[in-house]
Amino acid sequence: MLGSDENWILRWFMAAPATLMVLLCVLRTGFGASSAEHSYSTKLNKFPVFNFDDDLKYLCISAVSPNTTKATLYALNVWRYWCMTKGLRDYMDITKIPAVKLNELLEDFYITVKKTDGSDFLATSLHTIRRGLDRILKNAGVGFSISSSTFNSSTKKLKEKLRVLSKAGMSGARSRNVVYFSFSDEEEMWRTGCLGDSSPEALLSTVVKYNSQYLNMRTLQEHADLMFGDIELLKDSQNRPFFARTDRVKRENRVSANKVCYGQIYHEHSKGHKLCPYCLLYKYMYVHRPPSQMEAKSPFYLTARKEVSGMGNVWYEEQRMGLRSLRGVVPKLAKKVKLERCENFTFVSFTQASRKCGPLNSFQ
Ligand SMILES: [Zn+2]
Repeated sequence: MLGSDENWILRWFMAAPATLMVLLCVLRTGFGASSAEHSYSTKLNKFPVFNFDDDLKYLCISAVSPNTTKATLYALNVWRYWCMTKGLRDYMDITKIPAVKLNELLEDFYITVKKTDGSDFLATSLHTIRRGLDRILKNAGVGFSISSSTFNSSTKKLKEKLRVLSKAGMSGARSRNVVYFSFSDEEEMWRTGCLGDSSPEALLSTVVKYNSQYLNMRTLQEHADLMFGDIELLKDSQNRPFFARTDRVKRENRVSANKVCYGQIYHEHSKGHKLCPYCLLYKYMYVHRPPSQMEAKSPFYLTARKEVSGMGNVWYEEQRMGLRSLRGVVPKLAKKVKLERCENFTFVSFTQASRKCGPLNSFQ
């Protein structure tokens, strides 16, 4: 249905949505503020930081809410970046554009605005950007709003774009009807080989399941953002090996040097090594991956090969798994064990076995 959109979905996937961290970056480096201690968000993306040595940044400051300030600065940044990439430098000051011309620009903006890697924003991010731009205009006292009837034609374009994003699962809204697998559902998945290491797809599904359960990865975004180096193989004080999600790669720009662990995976052989989360993750990360995809910044989830025969140990392509495929992993498992309303099953549908752990001070 959206076959021709596969490219932008993939492009989106190259860096994943972005809201807060961008703002943090803007505030920290471009804006010189002291927001480095903000809690880490998985909604991160690099976005170019412009020098805010001009009056526009003052239009972004909200006396009421620092979050509003951040969101407004973000919108300004996105607008400027779009203008630069479109060769529209004359329009970078959005407060100096007459309404009719701005409406015309916005028609194109809503449809073509992208993150710096060429990927799309989530629908919720587009809303945030639009509200931010409107606040700048309001604070500048231009006397019109981009949600008014003068802007009907651009608003229509925005709605078109939002529809496309929603269809692709990029609404950004949280799912409301979460349902859970039963133990017998999961047993059935193991028994029929949908989970386990009998095929590239099964192994990948298993890793998705265990990452969701043990590494506290609950959203598509968290899975999509995961990089190879974010999961580390460590040893505890008793010299037992375990995998930890430390988000090392994602966090490397942070000020804090404390190592944080979002979850751990140890050997668990009480039901046999065939079900062991550690053994299976090890296979996925070190046995069946193409060596080129073992860099810290390699995407964690790779496209599974269809044919195992004659391809040796390498089970995955040198290519990031598509966003829609990743999103479909859990519903697909549900479908295979013949559950109804498969689409309601998500990463949090697996039996919850996770536990949070604190700073890993005892590890190097
Ligand atoms: Zn094991």
